[in-house]
Amino acid sequence: MLWKKTVFFALLTQQVAAAGDMTGVYQQALDELQLYSDADNCAIILVHQGFQVLAKKNGCDDVVFYDGDSTLRQHTDLPESFIKSVAYSKKFEYQINFQAEDDIWQTQSLDIHESVQVAAPIFHDDMVFAILFLETNHDVDALELDEQNIIKLFAQTIGAEFEKRYLSEQAQLAQAENVTTAKALGEKVAQSEMFLSLLTQLHRVSIELSQSTTLNDLYYNSVRLAQQHLQIDRMAIFLIDHESNKMFGTYGTDENGKVVNESYFSSPIPEHPVVQETLRRKDYVIVIEDTALQHNKKDVGRGWNAMVALWDGDQALGWIAVDNLINQKPLELHHKEVLKLYAANLSQLIFRKRQDEKLVQFNKELEQRVLERTAELASANNALESANRALESANIQLERLSMMDGLTGVSNRRFFDISLQAEWNRAQRHGYRLTLLMIDVDKFKEYNDCYGHIEGDKTLQRVAQSLLIHARRAGEVVARYGGEEFAILLPNMAEAAVHAVADNVLEGVKKLGIIHKASNVGGVVSVSVGVASIIPNKELLSTELVEQADKALYRAKALGRDQCVFT
Ligand code: GH3
Ligand code: MG
Ligand code: MG
Repeated sequence: MLWKKTVFFALLTQQVAAAGDMTGVYQQALDELQLYSDADNCAIILVHQGFQVLAKKNGCDDVVFYDGDSTLRQHTDLPESFIKSVAYSKKFEYQINFQAEDDIWQTQSLDIHESVQVAAPIFHDDMVFAILFLETNHDVDALELDEQNIIKLFAQTIGAEFEKRYLSEQAQLAQAENVTTAKALGEKVAQSEMFLSLLTQLHRVSIELSQSTTLNDLYYNSVRLAQQHLQIDRMAIFLIDHESNKMFGTYGTDENGKVVNESYFSSPIPEHPVVQETLRRKDYVIVIEDTALQHNKKDVGRGWNAMVALWDGDQALGWIAVDNLINQKPLELHHKEVLKLYAANLSQLIFRKRQDEKLVQFNKELEQRVLERTAELASANNALESANRALESANIQLERLSMMDGLTGVSNRRFFDISLQAEWNRAQRHGYRLTLLMIDVDKFKEYNDCYGHIEGDKTLQRVAQSLLIHARRAGEVVARYGGEEFAILLPNMAEAAVHAVADNVLEGVKKLGIIHKASNVGGVVSVSVGVASIIPNKELLSTELVEQADKALYRAKALGRDQCVFT
């Protein structure tokens, strides 16, 4: 996708902040968003007034304002239910929007393309008061994390601009009556400006952090960048191991503000209520005012000390500790907010890096186990069995980590189940056919009996690879359904094209020329194919498609194998 990431965001916040009233903010926002994101369609929808479309911009046209007199339903180019769901869930979301621009029956020459629709909630006083929507026609499978962050931060920017103007309005009103209140409000405005600038910094820091190559680098950079850009005096990151109930150091800051390696540090997790409270609460910053500040368990001064936990799902990974030893500045509300966001961001990066490192380690272990297994083969049957079991469970775990079948390299059953449901729903929405091919290798038990299981596995891999060429378009899936059975999912394909694919599947497998003496079907490995097509409707479940394809497959077997049967 062509987001011009950092540049886009930095310019955007400047331009939007420079706009005069809120109309100006919205106008500037949609203009800039279209210019820098290549969005084809963007809009701002007010939630609390019954989903009124406030402003919209199509392509390079000027922004159109509707004066609060245009409901979402009147705009067919804005996805009503998606926008409403984001308003209710209060969460940033995106979806791939499938578009077919022609008669759905003419699927052969149909120009099918997808767009990405993004909706981000804009908050005021913790309520979603508006939705920022945009749509781009670039073909993408998913929105990258950076792009999501840009749009989230952008929605926060608009929210903060609204907040700022709202507060200045309040400040002006109050000034007439009470100068003190006006001053307090003025301070709030300054704070929200500071928050805005910290958010921009946070975005830059997040991008830089995500480029860390190892976990160690990630910890070091987290401390260094927080000091440099997020107005943090001293910071340390501690990790915990739940099994041993211990905490470990990573990087911290000494009493002179220098980043130091503290990985030597380990101790039981303190029973101290502040630590326990930190680890119990998600998205919460615990602050102890005017307390002794330490380095290496020695007192080095006094000030405030703040802690926020790092999370993986519902389990605490560790925590970040921050204090004001060097500059002795008071802790502001916006510092706490930034700290929360920073901890959430860091948690996500740690989780991802750990998964990466686990996978590398896992592959090493797997290789080692294969070596061991080879050695054990020669010695004893018992040893072989146990090595096999280890390998099997390793494979299962590996497979769980991905959506790919470990043996054949095509999609696994889990991915198939998810895709089937998604494509079923999509086909129902658009009213087109969904086709499923169930493919089963003929006489495969005999093949194993004759050539052994290892040759059997190789053959399954070759058959699976030969199927892959039949799924090239978006939404098409080749998956291992189970054992020696495969499935191909073909959304929106005309009947003639489906016939061609089914024939090519049969021919493609036979062309592999894998000798199968025990087969009574022509001496080479062959498959049987059952094909079913359904235009989904509300009365049907997606399992109906699988059942029909299964029945057809059964008939293909009964009729002598090596053939396709259509329902
Ligand atoms: P049919 O033509 O009726 O499909 O006969 P078949 O022998 O292929 O069918 P059956 O269901 O009796 O046997 C399927 C065989 O597939 C049995 C099983 O050993 C083998 N198989 C299933 N998964 C694997 C695998 O991962 N690797 C190997 N090598 N064999 C497998
Ligand atoms: Mg079979
Ligand atoms: Mg079978």
